[in-house]
Amino acid sequence: MKFDPASQIQDLRQFGEFGDVNPSVCDSATFTFMQAKTMLDTFQGEAEGCFLYSRHWNPSNKYLADAMAAMEGTESAWVTGSGMSAITSTILHLIGCGDHIVSSITTYGGTFAFLANYLKKFNVEVSFVDITNLEEVKAAIRPNTRMIYTETMTNPLLQISDIPALAEIANKHGIKLVVDNTFTPMIVSPARLGAHIVVYSLTKFVNGKNDCVAGAICGSEELINSMIDVNDGTAMLLGPVLDPFRSSSILKNLHTLHIRMKQHSLNAAFLAEKFTAAGIKTVYPGLPNHPGHNLLKSMMNPQFGFGGMIAIDLETADKAAELMEDMELNDVGYLAVSLGYFKTLFSNSGKSTSSEVPEDVQRKMGLSEGLVRYSVGLDNDIERTWERIEASLKKTGFLK
Ligand code: PLP
Repeated sequence: MKFDPASQIQDLRQFGEFGDVNPSVCDSATFTFMQAKTMLDTFQGEAEGCFLYSRHWNPSNKYLADAMAAMEGTESAWVTGSGMSAITSTILHLIGCGDHIVSSITTYGGTFAFLANYLKKFNVEVSFVDITNLEEVKAAIRPNTRMIYTETMTNPLLQISDIPALAEIANKHGIKLVVDNTFTPMIVSPARLGAHIVVYSLTKFVNGKNDCVAGAICGSEELINSMIDVNDGTAMLLGPVLDPFRSSSILKNLHTLHIRMKQHSLNAAFLAEKFTAAGIKTVYPGLPNHPGHNLLKSMMNPQFGFGGMIAIDLETADKAAELMEDMELNDVGYLAVSLGYFKTLFSNSGKSTSSEVPEDVQRKMGLSEGLVRYSVGLDNDIERTWERIEASLKKTGFLK
């Protein structure tokens, strides 16, 4: 039977202690025990079903984590206070001083900054590669390499990572493949394709409401248990825990994710075709001319489309700014960073979410100064949206 992340979520039986269909929010930092020994056992990770302290586990966080694990088809998951904390605690947990990482050169700017700048403190070297070039990935691996890091659909260039092939390389060398699936929840299930760990910014499509920042780490039970080990677990000791009220609201939003992803994809595909027909340089993995189109097709779960992200190239940052300002006035959406929101958001990646990446590296990775990234919203009438974009393109001289 085909793996369907939406059905996995639908089948969860997560009701509360009073039969409440939305499990009650557990707003307790600590938990009481009737026997002192059970507390000790819980500290040692041996008391099934007992909660100790909310930096470790909280029932509301557990519901969301279980739902994320179900969606990804992993044994376990843990939720965090941001996508960055999911990424950084996972990486810090897997490496030691003097280790080496092979990473896609195109990743979210914060991730790039962490890998390129922050990890220097621990004498960890990172080789940045074109993740679509498997020979380059293989050649970059050293005896002290601990992981390959990538994003399923990279931010902001929308390249597609070949997860089965990267997993094969990782397995051959006994190292981990860590995949950020923030752009493609439901569309791709990286763990089912061989990724060892899947990380998320839940801030984006998964929550979809732009009302909070959150993250998740999905992987084996062994990994999650070791990350929350009271003695040396990176998540437990750095403490990037998610607030249970937020877990509860994100969980409710997760149940509509499949419908939202389909609409984001439909709308983005429509706009991508319109941009292309208008002669604007357009990157969208759903277009047959995208270099990763067939690869994504081979990896994706059917039904959810090719995602809600589009990039267009307007060549200069000034031209990009002009268009974005006019689109905002025309109610196309908001000039804002982030993605996965119900309204369309757009920003110039080089001057925003990838501004941590030095300009020479931006050029090396193929990121144009005038690249505008769209996170296409849930618009009911996408033709009307295109008419507004077209009006802005005409006003700013991109179209006659
Ligand atoms: N991963 C990707 C692909 C992102 O785009 C972002 C944020 O833009 C992050 C991770 C970081 O997530 P957060 O802002 O929730 O910390």
